[in-house]
Amino acid sequence: MTDSPAPVSCSDTIAAIATGAVLSAIGIVRVSGSDTLAVIDRVFTPRAGAPMSERPDRRLVLGRLFGADGGLLDECLATVSRAPNSYTGEDTAELQCHGSPTVLREALKALFAAGARQAKAGEFTRRAFLNGRMDLTQAEAVVDLIDAQTAQAARNAAAQLGGAVTRRTDGIYDRLSGICSHFHAVLDYPDEDIEPFALSGYRAVMAEAAEELSRLFATFRRGSVLKNGVRCAILGRPNVGKSSLLNAIVGYDRAIVTDIPGTTRDTVEEKAVMGGVLLRLADTAGMRATEDPVERIGVERARAAAQDAELVLAVLDGSEPLTAEDHAVLEAAENAPKAILVRSKADLPAAWTRPDVIPVCALTGAGIDALEAAAAALFPPDEAIPAGELLTNPRQAEAVSRALEYVRAAMDAIDAGITPDAVLTEIEGALNALGELSGRVVREDITNGIFARFCVGK
Ligand code: GDP
Repeated sequence: MTDSPAPVSCSDTIAAIATGAVLSAIGIVRVSGSDTLAVIDRVFTPRAGAPMSERPDRRLVLGRLFGADGGLLDECLATVSRAPNSYTGEDTAELQCHGSPTVLREALKALFAAGARQAKAGEFTRRAFLNGRMDLTQAEAVVDLIDAQTAQAARNAAAQLGGAVTRRTDGIYDRLSGICSHFHAVLDYPDEDIEPFALSGYRAVMAEAAEELSRLFATFRRGSVLKNGVRCAILGRPNVGKSSLLNAIVGYDRAIVTDIPGTTRDTVEEKAVMGGVLLRLADTAGMRATEDPVERIGVERARAAAQDAELVLAVLDGSEPLTAEDHAVLEAAENAPKAILVRSKADLPAAWTRPDVIPVCALTGAGIDALEAAAAALFPPDEAIPAGELLTNPRQAEAVSRALEYVRAAMDAIDAGITPDAVLTEIEGALNALGELSGRVVREDITNGIFARFCVGK
C-alpha cells in the first residue's frame, strides 16, 4: 500500500508478556516505543561487550536480566529491532526469559521501573497499523491466526496476514479511484464532457468491480464457518449414545472443548474438531421425552434442533430396532443441509442396518475415524478460493457488501443518464467502504489521484 499513514515518530514505550501465563520452557517479554533501547539497557547487561543499544538488529544476545530492585532475575537472551524495520515500526526489543510466570512478571516490573508502561490489549498491532506496517485486514488476521482452531483456519489467517484480502481489493480501489478522479475533473471543469465512449468503458470497469466484490462477499459464509465452526446438532432419541459419541469425538481428537456463553439465553455450545472441521455442537442434551404422543414430539424436537444446523449428526441405536422417533430423526437429517447418520453401539449385535450409516462404538472409539472422514468430505477446503481470500469477519463482509451496493448504484446512475456528480457520490461511497476495509484514508487518495492523472495546471 503506497498511502499508509505516516510513521509515528515518537511514542511512549510499552511492554507486555507475549507468551501464555503457564509454566513453559521459554517466555517472551516484548517492548516497543521510542525509549526501547534505553529501557532495555537499564535492565539487561550482555555477558560480554557492548550494551543492546549498540548491537545490530535481530541478533540474540546472552546476558543477565535485573529486577526492579537491581537483583539478578534471569540469565536470558535479548534482541532488538530498530524502527522502521520491526513489527510495530518502532524501536522494539524482546527478552527471551525462562518461562516462569513469576520471572516474566518480575521482568515486566523491571521494565516499568526502567520507563516502560503496560501495553494495552492489541497495542503492539495497533502501532503496527498506525505505522503502516500492516493494514486492518492484516491486523485482524493476527488475531485470527492466534485464535485458529483448525489447520485450515490457520492457513487462511496466515495468508490474510500476508495481505491477501487487500491485494484483491486494492486493484478494485485503484480502478474506481481512477474513474473518480476523472469525474472530479469533469465537475471542476464543466466544459469537459465525459465522452460516451469513456462512459461505457467506466461502466465496464464498474461491472467488473461489482463481480469481483460479489465473489469476495460470497466467501464470507465459508470464512465464518472456518473461523466460528459449523453449526452441528447431534440428534437422537434418549439413550442412543449421543453424549457418549460427543465424548468420543472430543476425546479422540483431543479437541479444545470450550463453553461459549451462547448468543441465546443460557445456550451452551461445545466446540470440537472432527476431520479437520471445527464443529459448534449445540447442547441438545435437555431434550426429553414427554407424555405427548411420541411420534409427534420426536418430529417436532428433531425439526427444531435441526432447523439451525448446517450439519446434523443423526444417532440411531444399532442394538435396538428403529422406532418411530428414530424415523423422525432420519427425516430431520434428510431435511438438513448436510447430515451424517451414525449407527451407535456397534459393539453390540446389530438389530438393523442400512448402507448409508456409519457404525460407531463410542466406548472403544471404533468407527470415529470413518466419522472424521465423512465430516472432512462434507466440508472440503474450497480449492476455488485461494487461502487468505476468505472474508472471516462481519466487519470485512459489511464493508465489501457496502462497496458492492455503491458500485451497483453507480452503474444504475450511469444507465439512467444521471449527472456525473451522482455517479461520483456512489463511487466515493464504494471507495470509502473499501478504504474502511483496509483502513486507508480515502479523501487523500482521491486528491492524489486527481493531481497524478490530470494536469490541472494547464
Ligand atoms: P444419550 O442419552 O443419547 O446421550 O446416550 P448416552 O451417551 O448417555 O448413552 C446411553 C447409554 O448407552 C449409556 O449407558 C452408555 O454407556 C451406552 N452406550 C453409549 N454408547 C455405547 C456404545 O457404543 N456401546 C455400548 N455397548 N453402549 C453404549
